Amino acid sequence: MTASTEKSNTGQGLPDNFDPEAMRARYSEEREKRLRPDGNEQYIEVKDDFAHYLDDPYVDTPVKREPLEDEVEVVVIGGGFGGLQMGARLRQAGVKDLRIIEKGGDFGGTWYWNRYPGAQCDVESYIYLPLLEEVGYMPKEKYSFAKEILEYSRKLGEHFDLYEGALFQTEVTDLRWDEDSGRWIVSTDRGDALRARFVTMANGPLNRPKLPGIPGIQNFKGHTFHTSRWDYEYTGGGPLGGLDRLHDKRVAVIGTGATGIQCVPFVGETAKQLYVFQRTPSTVDVRGNQPTDPEWAAALKPGWQKHRMENFNGLVSGVPQTQDLVDDGWTDLVGKMIRRFREAVQDGSPDVPAILEMANFEKMTEIRDRVDELVEDPDVAEKLKPYYRMFCKRPTFNDDFLPTFNRPNVELVDTDGQGVDRITEKGLVVKGVEYEVDCIIFATGFEVGTSYARRAGYEIHGRDGRTLMEKWEEGMSSLHGMQSQNFPNCFIMHMFQAAFTANYPHLLEELTTHIAYILGEAIKRDAKVVEVSQDAEAAWVKTIVEKGAGAMGALGGPECTPGYYNNEGQDREPTAVQSAPYGGGSIEYFKLLEAWRKEGQLAGIEFSS
Ligand code: NDP
Repeated sequence: MTASTEKSNTGQGLPDNFDPEAMRARYSEEREKRLRPDGNEQYIEVKDDFAHYLDDPYVDTPVKREPLEDEVEVVVIGGGFGGLQMGARLRQAGVKDLRIIEKGGDFGGTWYWNRYPGAQCDVESYIYLPLLEEVGYMPKEKYSFAKEILEYSRKLGEHFDLYEGALFQTEVTDLRWDEDSGRWIVSTDRGDALRARFVTMANGPLNRPKLPGIPGIQNFKGHTFHTSRWDYEYTGGGPLGGLDRLHDKRVAVIGTGATGIQCVPFVGETAKQLYVFQRTPSTVDVRGNQPTDPEWAAALKPGWQKHRMENFNGLVSGVPQTQDLVDDGWTDLVGKMIRRFREAVQDGSPDVPAILEMANFEKMTEIRDRVDELVEDPDVAEKLKPYYRMFCKRPTFNDDFLPTFNRPNVELVDTDGQGVDRITEKGLVVKGVEYEVDCIIFATGFEVGTSYARRAGYEIHGRDGRTLMEKWEEGMSSLHGMQSQNFPNCFIMHMFQAAFTANYPHLLEELTTHIAYILGEAIKRDAKVVEVSQDAEAAWVKTIVEKGAGAMGALGGPECTPGYYNNEGQDREPTAVQSAPYGGGSIEYFKLLEAWRKEGQLAGIEFSS
């Protein structure tokens, strides 16, 4: 890939003839076109006939071992950043006896699975890679590629001694609370029946691939795979490209989210023919990667990473900061808001909602202008332009995706918001045209809005055998998103009833610090059972509901096209409101957790021996 295609946004503001009313109407039209009553149900769950999409292509020899029935102090489920950060904080809190259970062949989580060509973090690596100061590591570039992140995950495992006791290639199948012994029984697909005093679950926000519910999907006779299990046997090459076995292949990529944007340039580079099937265009902003400046790195003062994380989180949450340390496409919109606000103050009439909207229009106009700059065919360019507010959907950053459509072997098949109509034995049908292909690559993302147990892949049986899903059927119920009554000694790491952050490891940092604190207290007090009180749980649920649907795309607001940021456009349904992240935003949520810990009362938590 070359960097020569990179173009920066112009920052020219809105054209004089810009018509906000017409743009609002256009945004609403795009949303209406895409809303569908089946919401999350439109996708196919990867199980039964589709289970092979989950096979691990990265392990050569499956580990063979006898089932285990031993007991540990803490079981951590998941060896991605969540599990690694949890493990690190527990080690720091003096917990020696812990066991991480991970279905992959090594640590890394999302970065273990997502090795598709071009995979790279979209959030600056200096704030995305956790615990950099503790480990003494500096990423090579502003945006690290997947290989470096996977290696760093292993480094975290080694640094905090987390390989000790870890079980890889092992999938948890069931969690069951045993009241008599006060232990969790952790069952796995390897026949283990482990006992644990505490369990923390770091399943990951995007761990379960989903497939599109396109009629005929099973009829296709060619090759298929999901991007999170990239088949290099079939494509040739590796994560840095060179997919040489595609030179005589006609390939379809379905999906133009963050993954599609990153892998399409590499498939387009070598495939005989590439069709990119698009339902909703992404915002594709400037990447602008650069190597880490060693002088800058050497001059950083202790505590710099947390400070930088908070600076970024403030800006993307719409809270002005004196400085924009990260200064990229994520923070740019807020910069525009602040500039417009200052101008309005000078004019004496700051109408905040109007300022936010106009700044968003300005940002989106730049995004659309960039498509015209980089895509030669004006018809193709028009189809690649997103018409919704910035942050309605996860923004993307790439300098090679848009120019890929200038290649003679690459065709955009825009479905006008409707998706692929049908899959046949030979290919895909859109608006009556059949596109024959040898291979379909599903860049169709991961489950987000489905039930916790479905995404986790196992049920959690609390007191009296009642499952967490039975308890949460009418809506989620927890204290701070992490603990739920009748599921003692069990801690959940996720954003629901907790908080949404664009930089997910930042949320994990706060959650793991909090859980390690509670666990540390429980161990100090030699408590057998740690559980939230009914009152505290009810009060937190009330807070979540009263604060309204904590917007994952808070800056997007209304007129958003559906996607996982807004529960496929159904984010106002009562159960979705109750399961939403804290509506006051992540900054307020983090402060609230910190204040709770500082108070030292462990309010709402009951310990019993
Ligand atoms: P997404 O859910 O973002 O995208 C799925 C894509 O599939 C969308 O374009 C969707 O269209 C499309 N799609 C779904 N069903 C159909 C259909 N029936 N016909 C045609 N198209 C369809 O998944 P991704 O894997 O791209 O990204 C998921 C998340 O993973 C990201 O949002 C990000 O948080 C994370 N990620 C992070 C990266 C990083 O940091 N570098 C890189 C990649 C991913 P529509 O939009 O209309 O629903």
